[in-house]
Amino acid sequence: MAPKTRVDKVAVTCIAGNSGTDLGKETSVNEQRQKQLHRAEQENICTWVRTAWARARRVHPASKRVRRLLGILPGALKATLQRWALERSPRLYSLLIETCSMCNRRCHFCPVAYYPRPKKLMRWHLYAKIISELKEIGFAGKIGLHSYNEPLLDKRLPRLIRYARNNLPSATIMFSTNGDLMTLELWLKLREAGLDYAWIKQYDGHINPNVRHVMEHLSGQERKRFQVSVFSAYTDTRGGLLKHMGQLEAPLKAGCLRPRFQMVIAFDGKVPICCQDYLARHVMGDVNRESLMDIWNNRKFQHARAHLRLKDRSFSIVCSNCNASHMYPR
Ligand code: SF4
Repeated sequence: MAPKTRVDKVAVTCIAGNSGTDLGKETSVNEQRQKQLHRAEQENICTWVRTAWARARRVHPASKRVRRLLGILPGALKATLQRWALERSPRLYSLLIETCSMCNRRCHFCPVAYYPRPKKLMRWHLYAKIISELKEIGFAGKIGLHSYNEPLLDKRLPRLIRYARNNLPSATIMFSTNGDLMTLELWLKLREAGLDYAWIKQYDGHINPNVRHVMEHLSGQERKRFQVSVFSAYTDTRGGLLKHMGQLEAPLKAGCLRPRFQMVIAFDGKVPICCQDYLARHVMGDVNRESLMDIWNNRKFQHARAHLRLKDRSFSIVCSNCNASHMYPR
C-alpha cells in the first residue's frame, strides 16, 4: 500500500496549490495516481500467483508428503493424479546412481547376462560432485544406489551411504539388491550409516537362507525397511536389447512418465534416457562435464518428454523398442 499513500500526498499538494486555472495538470496527476494504483494492484496479484504456484509445486505428487497421503487413495485415482501433475511439470524425484558396474548374477531377464561391461567403480570424485549438486538444490527425493549393478559388491557402500546421508538429511536413501551378500552385520552397518530401506529381490523362487536369517533377527518396524520380495522374472525387453523377451513390430502408442521424475547416472557418469537403457544408447548428458540440473533441463530431456507426452516413442532407439508401459514414482 506504500505507493497509494505517496500518491495521495502528491495529489493533495497539487490540488491545494491549484488556483483553478490548471485543471489539465490536476487531471494528469489523477491519471498518474490511477496508474500507480493499478500497477500496485497488478504487483499484488502477481505476488499472489507466484506464492500460490510455489505452494502448489511444494505439494506436487512426487513430493514425500503428498506421496504419503496418496498412499491411502485407490490405485487408479492415485495414478491419475500423479500423471496429471507430472505431465504439467516434470520433477526430479528419483535418482539412480550406479556406484559400480558389477553384478554377481547372470539372470536370463537381465542384459547384464548378455552384454558384459568392464568391472569398474564410480569414481569417488564423481559421486561427491553428484551429492554436492543435490545438496545445492535441497534434494529431498529418493536416491537409489543401484541400476544394473549389485550394490553389495561395492565395499564402499556404507561410506557412500553415510556421505549422502550427511549431506542430504531429507532424502530417502535406498537400494535394490539380489541379497546374495546380505548378512545381519552388514545390514546393521548400512542402517547405522543412514540407509532408509532396501528392496531385497529374491529371484530363485524362494527366500534364501542368509536373507531369512536377517529377517528373523529384525523387529517389526525394522522389518518394514528390509523389504523382501520373491520375483520370478521381469518381462521388459530393455529397449529391445533382450530379443528373447519379445520384439515389437512397431513402437507402442503409449506415453511414458519416467523421464519426468527419474534420472539415472551410470557408473561412468553417463546419463541414459532411463533405467531401461542399459548400454546408454540414448545419452542425455554426462555428469563428468555437466551439472545434474543442466542435464535435467536440457533440450534432449525436453524433446523426449514432449514426444512421450504425445504417445510417440519413435524418436528414440530405446523407446521405440521398449515394451514398458506408464510408470509412476514409487
Ligand atoms: S518409453 Fe521405455 S525406454 Fe522410453 S523412457 Fe519410457 S521406460 Fe524408458
